[in-house]
Amino acid sequence: MRDFSADHRWLSINTATVRRQRGADWPLAQILDACAARGIRAVAPWRDQVGVAGLAATARQLRALGLELSGYCRGGMFTYTDAAGRQAVRDDNRRALDEACTLAAPCLVLVVGGLPGALAGHAAHREIAAAREQVTEGIAALLADARERRMPLAIEPLHPMYAADRACINTLEQALDVCDALDPPLADGTGRRVHSGALGVAVDLYHVWWDPKLAAQIARAGRERLLALHVCDWLTPTTDLLEDRGMMGDGVIDIPRIRAWVEAEGYAGYSEVEIFSATNWWQRDGGEVLDTCIERHRRCV
Ligand code: ZN
Repeated sequence: MRDFSADHRWLSINTATVRRQRGADWPLAQILDACAARGIRAVAPWRDQVGVAGLAATARQLRALGLELSGYCRGGMFTYTDAAGRQAVRDDNRRALDEACTLAAPCLVLVVGGLPGALAGHAAHREIAAAREQVTEGIAALLADARERRMPLAIEPLHPMYAADRACINTLEQALDVCDALDPPLADGTGRRVHSGALGVAVDLYHVWWDPKLAAQIARAGRERLLALHVCDWLTPTTDLLEDRGMMGDGVIDIPRIRAWVEAEGYAGYSEVEIFSATNWWQRDGGEVLDTCIERHRRCV
């Protein structure tokens, strides 16, 4: 397992962590500058932030600063209520794929969607199994393009509290079942089963830390399918379902233990700090938040 205590070379910042400091949006260009100024080597920007900053301008700035991506946030939201909705979802995901390629992301992260319409407050039906079928279909369609573009797709299972409105894939096991169905392992000639790496998972500790099957499913994923590692902490009590994530070390997740499982499979990528925190971290100076991420990353990850 890598030693994170001496430096922060494996730290990436998900840009939502500092997206709206003290009530005002922190522009993406300034976030990138502030990360680079601190020796942070990677970020994971959100599509809406890139949209505001401009795709070409963001790509130029990343190159100029020598910043890599640990992932691109995000594609997905595959569920729909009619044919027009289905087409719109597919078109939007192809655009996300193009953007990820332009930004040289290592993967496009997929938050797959919940019951159709639920995010807007009116679920079209209660058939979560049907929603999951739409998700599998949507990933299958996108995977064909993603293979051509050589852009890996990372399915991010979300905590079951988001099953209705954000993601009906809620465990690593479910995500890997989809990987097996759409991108089956191949024999490599020596009897070993290998994965193509075109489809895998993003392991976000906030969503999966509680899962009794976590260690076994990380081992099942193996190196080729472990595409991203997201870290933060689970606060008790949690006061908001979406925007009360904790800084590493402030909650109950055994982060080093889970990172050890992931690295035992050969994962050697960034550990990406992703914190949505309306009443604490978004209320502070962005520079202070980044400095805290660096310090906690060395001590608690
Ligand atoms: Zn995440």
